[in-house]
Amino acid sequence: MLLYEGRSYSKHRCHVCRKKRVYGVMWRCLHCPEYYLCSVCYLANHHCSLHRFTCLLDRDGMQFRVLARADSRRIPVSGLFYGAEVVRGTDWRWNDQDGGVGRTGKVVEVLDWSNEGGSGYERSVVLVTWENGNKKKYRAGHRGKVDVRCIAPGSGGFYYPEHLPVLCQAVKPPSSGDIVTGDRIKCEVNLAELDDPEMAEKIGLMLDHVGTVNVLLENGELLVRYPGNSLVQVNPAAAKKLEGGIHHHSVY
Ligand SMILES: [Zn+2]
Ligand SMILES: [Zn+2]
Repeated sequence: MLLYEGRSYSKHRCHVCRKKRVYGVMWRCLHCPEYYLCSVCYLANHHCSLHRFTCLLDRDGMQFRVLARADSRRIPVSGLFYGAEVVRGTDWRWNDQDGGVGRTGKVVEVLDWSNEGGSGYERSVVLVTWENGNKKKYRAGHRGKVDVRCIAPGSGGFYYPEHLPVLCQAVKPPSSGDIVTGDRIKCEVNLAELDDPEMAEKIGLMLDHVGTVNVLLENGELLVRYPGNSLVQVNPAAAKKLEGGIHHHSVY
């Protein structure tokens, strides 16, 4: 689905909601060192929208890069979300809990049902309040069953169509390109409103100084040494290799 549900990613913590076990993908800022967002926070436009992100698909390092959210198409999502109006649906087997055929209810919460159904059943159950005051849980895709049908959609926020993983397209771990150990690099970073002092310090280093690539990490990132012997993990996409040393000029 929209959030690439069905997989969980638990290697890093979301910087905003601090959740470690998040469903779907994780988003990593290309400009800020070790800055991660879960999809919910990413789509809610947390962090600087001018910063480009890498979408991390799984633990094996599969990922792809997307444009900055500020430069991307943003589309509202509506459907069986909070506030949606519903009536009984095709798989209804709950007698007159709803007060009778044609009675309407309102979705008051979308629930994570993965503990009961396992991966793939996140957000597959809705809590509905009916006109008669009944408040019950219903399947909304859980094990392929739909107890309620949406007659007036609720708002599910926004999404960026170009930022969705294209499942059939091969994605590869990032490549350090032509950068090798010992290269001198400079980072191109947008200044964001960063309230995290530790992060701001790392960014200051990356912005103001030339770093030396210490190690090419297995995940494709660079471990870069900065003045003061600080080591910072840098995404190669944010690094510019500085041409140093001897230049060979051809004369014709
Ligand atoms: Zn989050
Ligand atoms: Zn950032």
